[in-house]
Amino acid sequence: MEKPLFDSHGRRINYLRLAVTDRCNLRCFYCMPEKGISFLERKDLLSFDEMFRILKVARGMGVDKFRITGGEPFARKGIMPFLKKVKQDLKPTAFSITTNATLIGNYIEEVARLFQAVNVSLDALDKERFFEITRRDDYDAVIANIHALLDAGVQVKVNAVVLSGKNTEDILPFVEWTKNLPIEVRFIEEMPFNGTRDSKEISDWNYKKILEHIQGEFKEVEALPVPSGATSLMYQVKGFQGKFGIIPAFSRTFCGSCNRIRITPKGELRTCLYSTKGTDLLTPIRKGMEDASLEEMIRDAVMKKEKDGFAAAAARDGFIPIYESMTTIGG
Ligand code: SF4
Repeated sequence: MEKPLFDSHGRRINYLRLAVTDRCNLRCFYCMPEKGISFLERKDLLSFDEMFRILKVARGMGVDKFRITGGEPFARKGIMPFLKKVKQDLKPTAFSITTNATLIGNYIEEVARLFQAVNVSLDALDKERFFEITRRDDYDAVIANIHALLDAGVQVKVNAVVLSGKNTEDILPFVEWTKNLPIEVRFIEEMPFNGTRDSKEISDWNYKKILEHIQGEFKEVEALPVPSGATSLMYQVKGFQGKFGIIPAFSRTFCGSCNRIRITPKGELRTCLYSTKGTDLLTPIRKGMEDASLEEMIRDAVMKKEKDGFAAAAARDGFIPIYESMTTIGG
């Protein structure tokens, strides 16, 4: 009989975000430096079998919601057979993926069969600003792939990080984009995970400021119900096909109903995005650890899960100001 996974704050943990690689073909300045980071060597990266084992053990503890992240998941060679095996054998009740949609063009039909929803990271609705933010010239491919996904019947959610002085002029065009497109655009507060600077420098565009800015232009904005465990505050402009949302990722107003854990590309279990303390699952797995012991290890780590993202940040050995790159944690 499956014993559900709870933390010491009484929160049921049923959502696992798996980062399948730390590599990415874009260089978003708020995520990693232009030169990139020292990417993991193949031997230090979870293999597909090891990833599948961790998901299987988690599935046995009632973790039924999986999100595939990265880096850029489609930058990992051989990813499609793994995704199909997860869907087929583990039957998650919710299965989704976060991608920058630059490499997804060849997989649209397969992706449509695999995932209910695809989250596309896109921070600008302008080719030049896209280039300025990502330092790559893939804007047209991303837009074309978003439309291809929608045409294939996939629910598309666009994640746009709001960056002071970089893309705030895209906020209103993004909302306007939801007028005639059944798309969900979620504005995300910037977080300090870029491997080079501390949190004091990040954008002052918090969720309140973003909403006020939108309501300044769109007078009939309706607030929509937010399911438990969801991080995005949802809205819809009256008469528009699509919706927009705001994720207070740095304000961390949603931690009370946090239901998630993360597995990094090198097999570390992270119980909070803001914590640096992870539990290494890869070494014991390679030393032949049994599933039952792996399950105990995950339960123990989850029992130590921080109350919220502030507690996790404060627990960082004397508040290390430099945060690692999001591509090593897995967003
Ligand atoms: S900041 Fe940490 S505790 Fe809060 S929702 Fe994110 S992962 Fe959960």
